[in-house]
Amino acid sequence: MSQLIELKVPDIGGHSGVDVIEVFVKVGDTVAVEDSLITLETDKATMDVPASHAGVIKELKVAVGGKVSEGDVIAVVEAAGAAVEAPKAAAPAAAAAPAEAPKAASHAGGADFECEVLVLGAGPGGYSAAFRSADLGMKTILVERYSTLGGVCLNVGCIPSKALLHNAAVIDEVAHLEANGIKFGKPEIDIDQLRGYKEKVIGKLTTGLAGMAKARKVDVVRGIGTFIDPNHIEVNLTTGSGTELKNERVVVKFQKAIIAAGSRVVKLPFIPEDPRIVDSTGALELKSVPKKMLVIGGGIIGLEMGTVYSTLGARLDVVEMMDGLMQGPDRDLVKVWQKMNEHRFDNIFLNTKTTAVEAREDGVYVSFEGEKAPAEPVRYDLVLVAAGRAPNGKSIGAENAGVVVTDRGFIPVDKQMRTNVPHIFAIGDIVGQPMLAHKAVHEAHVAAEVAYGEKAYFDARVIPGVAYTDPEVAWVGVTEAQAKAEGIKIEKSVFPWAASGRAIANGRDEGFTKLIFDADTHQVIGGGIVGTHAGDMIGEVCLAIEMGCDATDIGKTIHPHPTLGESIGMAAEVAHGSCTDLPPMRKK
Ligand code: FAD
Repeated sequence: MSQLIELKVPDIGGHSGVDVIEVFVKVGDTVAVEDSLITLETDKATMDVPASHAGVIKELKVAVGGKVSEGDVIAVVEAAGAAVEAPKAAAPAAAAAPAEAPKAASHAGGADFECEVLVLGAGPGGYSAAFRSADLGMKTILVERYSTLGGVCLNVGCIPSKALLHNAAVIDEVAHLEANGIKFGKPEIDIDQLRGYKEKVIGKLTTGLAGMAKARKVDVVRGIGTFIDPNHIEVNLTTGSGTELKNERVVVKFQKAIIAAGSRVVKLPFIPEDPRIVDSTGALELKSVPKKMLVIGGGIIGLEMGTVYSTLGARLDVVEMMDGLMQGPDRDLVKVWQKMNEHRFDNIFLNTKTTAVEAREDGVYVSFEGEKAPAEPVRYDLVLVAAGRAPNGKSIGAENAGVVVTDRGFIPVDKQMRTNVPHIFAIGDIVGQPMLAHKAVHEAHVAAEVAYGEKAYFDARVIPGVAYTDPEVAWVGVTEAQAKAEGIKIEKSVFPWAASGRAIANGRDEGFTKLIFDADTHQVIGGGIVGTHAGDMIGEVCLAIEMGCDATDIGKTIHPHPTLGESIGMAAEVAHGSCTDLPPMRKK
């Protein structure tokens, strides 16, 4: 039995009166579920609206040049059979920045290898793109200059830092037990063995990746890749554990390429070369534990490494140009972390610039300029420079392939991860902030699927952030500060961990869980958690946002008791006034 069904504009991220810039269908066409109906353009992005139901188009209600909002009817279809659940619309993604495309070069010679998909860089973005491409049946070559796969994240980033943070957290937790009558002796730290543990963790994961590449028949070409035209890359082969050149070059011909060349540490021009001055990679080498350490840059990477060194015995100073540490999450979350960590710091210099660094025999002397900056240079045993990361877009010969690279080295892409050259994609740190492994992996899957011919889009509504400090700080979506700055009307609810049975039992009830709702739709649009294991829990809030949940959806979901995760359900109950784990709330 056939029925007439209206295909409507779904949730398009709160935009209204959005321009219709393309219509893909006409009366009489047959559409399948997920076929693109129209393209919308906001000031930030374009997005395709897919069909929520299959059928024959009987009436078309939109035209190019028109404007639509959520709920407007696009077309009426005559559908056969039962209605199908409407898929979510593609959320806006950053549009490719307009920039003049460089004139591509042309390679006249031959090639040593050929493939359908060439992936440049084997970080979380690159290996995921290569593995997904291979899983889809495409012949894939992965080019990586280092001997191990995994990029920054596995070798000198996410994983080694967490291996060290885990040890630091256990040391700190054991110290907390003294208050419960359980006394351990002062830890004896064998730094070589601790470093060995970290190396073992990295080894386990990178060996696993090599095995998975082999199992998928992904060929890894070890060397430094440079595009020589839009379909060829030259690889200057490397050897050893680093990037020692073999003086041998090979050329790979590809049909499609995915650039995943990542980012590198930002170097400050006035900082001299000295073994007592390190970046995050140097800090992870954990050569020794200094008495007095300066962290330049109060972001997550600096604070995580600072936590490790402080637990191992270093006294910390931190200098930050902004007015607060850990930019990103709301200040109420950071405040809890800061209070718990006061004991680690001798000085927190905010609104302060580092103006000079001098390596002398007895230490590294650092000069500051700012609000409460010391007048004289301060001596440190170790200085960690954690002033951010810069994309590698300018060092891969992208211009020879005709690929646009911004002045800062980012490669602009559309929501299908395509660069301005349609068969070349880019993903991960090289395409923009936030520079996080989980963003890179999602982009990787999209790029590989689009390269294969699927209609995939990077349409995540939110990307979570986590500081794996102690306590952890995790946040996602709209923050209170952002809502205030952008005039977004919100409601919030907070569940303090002082009322969480599990947090109290753990002796760690300093944290809280916060949910942020759209004041009109009552859907959850943001959230923040500060407390132990906050990073493991924020995924539930991400899912709630992606699913368009409101407080009832979350609050009526039975969470296991007693858990820290329960605090998300309770924060939702606070929002709809049904929480019985807190003193009575005023009637709404
Ligand atoms: P990368 O991991 O940078 O990989 C790029 C790869 O490309 C590298 O292996 C590089 O050698 C290779 N390459 C580059 N140019 C060439 C070339 N021309 N030829 C051949 N190979 C090339 N993120 C999180 O999500 N969670 C965390 O907890 C976290 N912690 C971090 C801690 C530290 C100390 C640091 C530094 C970063 C951390 N990050 C974390 C960030 C995370 O590591 C990055 O976002 C992620 O690695 C980016 O992945 P990617 O694939 O884009 O690039």
